Amino acid sequence: MRTPVSLALLLFALPALVCAQNQATPAHKMTPKSLTADAVHRSALVIDTHADTPQRLVDEHFDLADPLGDGNLNLESARKGNLGAEFFSIWVEPTRYKGQYAHRTLELIDAVKQQAAKHHDKIEFVATSGGIEAAHREHKLAALMGIEGGHSIENSLALLRQYYSLGVRYMTLTWANSNDWADSSGDIDDKTIPHTKEGLTEFGKDVVYEMNRLGMMVDVSHVSDKTFYRTLNISRAPVIASHSSARALCDAPRNMTDEMLRAVANYGGPNSKGGDIQVNFFSGFLSQPYRDALKAIQPEAEKAVEELKAKAKAEGKEATPAEIEKLRRSFADRIPRPPLSVLIDHIDHIAKVAGIDHVGLGSDFDGVGGQLPEGIDSAADLPKITEALMARGYSAEDCRKILGGNLLRVFREVEQISKQLQAESRPRITEKQPFDEWKK
Ligand SMILES: [Zn+2]
Repeated sequence: MRTPVSLALLLFALPALVCAQNQATPAHKMTPKSLTADAVHRSALVIDTHADTPQRLVDEHFDLADPLGDGNLNLESARKGNLGAEFFSIWVEPTRYKGQYAHRTLELIDAVKQQAAKHHDKIEFVATSGGIEAAHREHKLAALMGIEGGHSIENSLALLRQYYSLGVRYMTLTWANSNDWADSSGDIDDKTIPHTKEGLTEFGKDVVYEMNRLGMMVDVSHVSDKTFYRTLNISRAPVIASHSSARALCDAPRNMTDEMLRAVANYGGPNSKGGDIQVNFFSGFLSQPYRDALKAIQPEAEKAVEELKAKAKAEGKEATPAEIEKLRRSFADRIPRPPLSVLIDHIDHIAKVAGIDHVGLGSDFDGVGGQLPEGIDSAADLPKITEALMARGYSAEDCRKILGGNLLRVFREVEQISKQLQAESRPRITEKQPFDEWKK
């Protein structure tokens, strides 16, 4: 992507650069060459669409002002990495919280809001594309939320609407578990799990439509291939993949094939500029050798987890998720981390296959243990991505698109389409419950 830096771009970049760096370089002396990777990064509105930090907030009583500890995201790392907006993931573990999905969802939402209230001088809780830009102008981190896994709505459009009213602005239709109305890539081959016939049930289609109508971005990360195409066929707005990488480079079922990458870029309605794919930083989705090594140690790791659980049970206790996570991580830590270049390869691949307007960042921070590429330990390391992209010939303008511009464009379009849909139709009321469908 060797695009020369245009004059218009330079003019656009200058105020931000001067503002961000407080340097005394006279504006007329700035040349395209003086746009260092760091300056480009500082001038961008950087948006990450997936961090699992809310679980730390609830389960570990972590505060965003605390030191990172084992995590990847806190206020200091966000500031150092010039992170402008974070979509905090509201993820409800489906087995542990069975019967309490809404309860857990609300606790996680509350934790994000409490952090924004507590650190209101540094964090702004926002729910619009304009809000992201306004927070950025005030040098605050814009905090947003996405629900990861449609099971959180407990088959109720009313719950979906209430989550929207609390500020949730995307929903991943499934996590690794299929739900009553959409299938997951995580269990699509498991014959013991009931699946929909066409990827989405009638209710699932209502969910997608209602998300379009509300202005909640439809997230196709994690879904099965069939559910992916079905969703694209019926969505009236462009979709996002909040944290997915390219299957051509690493064969994970929840990565996306080239055909899927192109489909995300090309769908979204008649006047749409298309959706985008936010690259996941998890080494197991980026590097095939890493993924193979991870698979190879899995039986041993799971055996150790079972032993840990049994030991705790014998002592009349229950092994905590944190203890289990720590044990799993000790196994993963045996595998050397892949270089940063593997992450850049995925961004590059998606930019080439889907187009430069359809790729962004969906880190999965705080969701993948320490299993990130070399050099990426926290949000503070985000500037390294810009540096690596520019080293490969990406222009400042291209970098700003990848860092957040593309996501902002899609979000804006989703908001626009929701206004049109609200003018022409009413909320969907579902009479038939989805689980009646697959029981037939
Ligand atoms: Zn995920």
